[in-house]
Amino acid sequence: MEIDLKKIEADVRECKRCKLCENRTKTVFGVGPTDAKIMFIGEGPGADEDREGEPFVGKAGKLMDMAFQGLGIDRNDVYICNIVKCRPPNNRTPLKEEADACLDYLRAQVMFIKPKIIVLLGNTALKNILGENYGITSTRGKWIEKKGILYMPTFHPAALLRDESKKIFFWEDLKKVMEKIKDM
Ligand code: URA
Ligand code: SF4
Repeated sequence: MEIDLKKIEADVRECKRCKLCENRTKTVFGVGPTDAKIMFIGEGPGADEDREGEPFVGKAGKLMDMAFQGLGIDRNDVYICNIVKCRPPNNRTPLKEEADACLDYLRAQVMFIKPKIIVLLGNTALKNILGENYGITSTRGKWIEKKGILYMPTFHPAALLRDESKKIFFWEDLKKVMEKIKDM
């Protein structure tokens, strides 16, 4: 499985399926063990991620790391990736057509890794994975099961940087994930 994902990662490096390829420095495929039980899906690379080729290494990622530490989540045990693998200009939300173009790669990641739980970070991940009708404020913290995978939608860590009052919800949602995974 490791090899298959490496192949797909190499394809992504050359990918020109959407216009986001034009301004990227590095593609950000995803990191983590190929047998991870938990997968985190964000929106798309920011400036730091675009420079380093790794997801969640900037400010939002640092905040996520702090929550991980507090909850006993080892970053090396989970798989972390995004809806789009190339940075949208000025960190704008990826367009529907960009997300659609990139979604096959994410499907492949889910197929090979077969996570038991997928944490959807923010509206972009939620809407592109579970559907446009969902909204993060009303859906966060609630388990949604689909095709044998349990989804936990929660706020995007960048939202916590803008609004501190959301931190407690992010914490509670990840705590539920840690409690659930114990029995899986
Ligand atoms: N925000 C995201 O959605 N993904 C990253 O990788 C970094 C910031
Ligand atoms: Fe390809 Fe995805 Fe990058 Fe678009 S965002 S160019 S679909 S890898």
